[in-house]
Amino acid sequence: MSDTNQWIDLDPERVAQELRVDSEKGLTLNEAKKRFKQIGPNQISESEKASLLSVFVDQFKDFMVLVLLAATLISGLLGEYTDAIAIIAIVALNAVLGFIQEIKAEKSLAALKKLSSPTARVMREGKWVRIPAEELVPGDLIFLESGDRIPADVRFCKAISLRVEESALTGESLPVEKISSRLPRADVPLGDRKNMGYMGTLVIQGTGMGLVVGTGMQTEMGKIAHLIQATESTETPLQRRLEQLGKVLIVASIFLTAVVVGTGIWHGQEMYKMFLAGVSLAVAAIPEGLPAIVTVALALGVQRMIKRRAIVRKLPSVETLGCATVICSDKTGTLTQNKMTVTRLWTLGKEVEVDPNVSAHKDFFRIQNQVISPQKDLGITRLLEISVLCNNAVLERTGPDQVDTWQIDGDPTEGALLVAGGKAGLYQDVLTNSWKRMREFPFDSKRKRMSVLLTSPSGQCFLYAKGAPDVLLESCTYALVQGKVTHLSDQLRQQIQEQNENLASMALRNLAFAYREVGKGEQQSSQMALEEKLVFVGLAGMIDPPRPEVKDAIEICRNAGIKTIMITGDHQATAEAIAYELGIKSTSGLTISGQQLSEMSDEQLQNRVNEIDVYARVSPEHKLRIVKALQQAGHVVAMTGDGVNDAPAIKAANIGIAMGVAGTDVSKEASSLILADDNFATIVSAIEEGRHIYDNIRKFISYLLASNVGEILVMFFAMLAGLPLPLLPIQILWVNLVTDGLPAMALGVDPAEENTMARVPRNSRESVFARGVGWKIITRGLLIGSCSLLAFWVTFMQYPENLVVSQTVAFATLVMAQLIYVFDCRSEGTIFQRNPFNNKALLLAVASSVLLLLAVIYYSPLQPIFHTVPIGLRDWILVTVTASLPVLCAGLLDSVALTVRKVFKLRMN
Ligand code: ATP
Repeated sequence: MSDTNQWIDLDPERVAQELRVDSEKGLTLNEAKKRFKQIGPNQISESEKASLLSVFVDQFKDFMVLVLLAATLISGLLGEYTDAIAIIAIVALNAVLGFIQEIKAEKSLAALKKLSSPTARVMREGKWVRIPAEELVPGDLIFLESGDRIPADVRFCKAISLRVEESALTGESLPVEKISSRLPRADVPLGDRKNMGYMGTLVIQGTGMGLVVGTGMQTEMGKIAHLIQATESTETPLQRRLEQLGKVLIVASIFLTAVVVGTGIWHGQEMYKMFLAGVSLAVAAIPEGLPAIVTVALALGVQRMIKRRAIVRKLPSVETLGCATVICSDKTGTLTQNKMTVTRLWTLGKEVEVDPNVSAHKDFFRIQNQVISPQKDLGITRLLEISVLCNNAVLERTGPDQVDTWQIDGDPTEGALLVAGGKAGLYQDVLTNSWKRMREFPFDSKRKRMSVLLTSPSGQCFLYAKGAPDVLLESCTYALVQGKVTHLSDQLRQQIQEQNENLASMALRNLAFAYREVGKGEQQSSQMALEEKLVFVGLAGMIDPPRPEVKDAIEICRNAGIKTIMITGDHQATAEAIAYELGIKSTSGLTISGQQLSEMSDEQLQNRVNEIDVYARVSPEHKLRIVKALQQAGHVVAMTGDGVNDAPAIKAANIGIAMGVAGTDVSKEASSLILADDNFATIVSAIEEGRHIYDNIRKFISYLLASNVGEILVMFFAMLAGLPLPLLPIQILWVNLVTDGLPAMALGVDPAEENTMARVPRNSRESVFARGVGWKIITRGLLIGSCSLLAFWVTFMQYPENLVVSQTVAFATLVMAQLIYVFDCRSEGTIFQRNPFNNKALLLAVASSVLLLLAVIYYSPLQPIFHTVPIGLRDWILVTVTASLPVLCAGLLDSVALTVRKVFKLRMN
């Protein structure tokens, strides 16, 4: 295992030599491939997973299943071989189904994990490329910036204001300043190896480059891998509640079963037969499969979400999505396309229009329709020079004039500036060769500016800065007017502010540019000292068109009772212009600036939070306050974010949403949902899916539980009435396996109802039995049980000497009643509200259940196993009529209940 201490006293050049890599161009593709083959993926090997066998064995660990197996064994010993074998076969089949479901759920969760895995920006064959972090090898040169999780152990060869939070490794939560120079050799503890960066730690500030010295299990993190593999619980609140409910149901079923067995024996039934029937009934009635079906329904829903470009990181959020009442969205990239294009340049004295197209023509710059040559204007040239040099994006061009083949890697705002520079012939690769960057004060959303210290080709030293106009203007004392530096008078200041407002109200995103000459002695001064007394140069306005699908998505949200709020770091006027265009801002809605927000107390904010549509010029810290105020006001909040500083708000929100493309690793890790395309409309799709999944879960819960209630009641009533057993153990187990299992699973994939996004969000504290599900379970269960018993009784009266016929009729009625009831579960309203043919899986499940029922009744080899006999047409008429009764009567019962409730309410009033 490599010791990372060995690298600290070497110069970066030596490190590169030792790692056999060109420190400028990185590894060649071939060499990287070779090393990857030798060393393997950059991964911490996962802790031992539960083996397939143990997952299978777990299926039998349920207490009641064990009791059933024991009872079966006894009946086998007593000579009832067919019964014993059949019961064991059914239990085994049940276990196989449970096993398949569990494996399926696990696989989809593993696939999810993979989808949200990190990437790294690496130099290969002289080009910066982005690859999955898993493919890094020792010797790779990587680029790191604020928000990244360091993907491997690295020796820094460049560090600009680089601060790394290493608490995952050292326990120290304060960020450590990193450097690239060598340290004296000594046994330096991990936390003090300032020129090293470790896998899994977080870049909190600045930028840097590092040579990978260790990957996968060879990293410091790999050494303590077993300590960090704490698995996060993926159980959702609903699953937890169902588990609790399961316990209650177990007790209730065992109690009822005991009563059934007791009364049966009292009425003279054979004790051991009653016992076996009782245990089978308990096994059938206990919805042990419920948590597994819920997991599968969640997992399938999550797969559908992936298809709609939303990646769920935390399963519980699937449920919360359906309760969201507010979506707080960033503007740039989420509501807009983040395809920035500079269209205006403005200096004191000139307003230049820039052609937004990127074709090969050369006349991009015009003043009042007259083509101008930007290089001839000192102000415009300086502005573009700052744009290109005070910039961390990378512009790659394949031919000098083929502008349309340019590729940008990095922040789109910065990319747009590089393109604007390129249009004027100020190419990044040329400029960065002749200018030398000495220091950098990186951009962050709080400072809203960035600056670099540079030496010009003639040896002069400059500070070049760009940033939010209102912020940068505060640091300016001079202005460049017609190529001359003059004092920035109040009048000029006002003129700049007016121009800024003017551009912003046209929905343009503006940046200001400033510079100053820096004396030799000043070069090491603090950032604050260097970033003052600047010379204001001008403004650049960029368009960032709204995403076309967002307007409709916001409308859908409004119909679904969900409010959309825009939170942006951008200027108020720009934000408002776009908010109006998208329909976020209503005429009565308020816009609040970050400053106004700072001046408000938490209480004031909470009182007004429902009236605010747009928050402009906010810092990431404000987001946390907004989330909290909304939550205090009773909202379930979905909040987007992409930067490091957004993480606390993302974490605090009920649904934290990170951006898949532009998001930092830190924000992704804090989130519960990642948007693969950074698109607001994807959040709306995810919410729709969230509601859909929850609806389906409610559907199969009402199906399964009502069916179970029916099964218990038919036996219970029969025993109370002193009738013989209406169903035999094997028949009960068959119903449990086939009739309960298949249609319930098919309900899990039922298509969404049309009104999914036309109703208000569900209350997050609402029970799964609310809104009629509990009522449905009790009434339908009662009716299914009674009607099956009715069919049994009528037949029994006809053929008192031939019990098997009555049992076959009761069995067929129970199965058919459940198969009809399954269609009633598909909608919150009546059975007739939905087209019964639009769920193919359900039709298939019902058809196969009917076929299997016919096979059990008419296929002679199965008859002795299931204790059935063929029944005639008259019996089938009875079966069909009694099996349809529950749903028909239920409609009547529903209306009676509704009337009673109305009358009751009227009386109360
Ligand atoms: P949103 O919060 O909707 O994503 P935003 O992108 O405008 O909006 P920030 O990224 O926090 O929010 O940027 C805030 C402001 O900082 C911007 O309005 C812009 O004026 C300025 N700014 C943005 N990017 C840079 C940059 N790379 N360098 C300097 N200033 C920048």
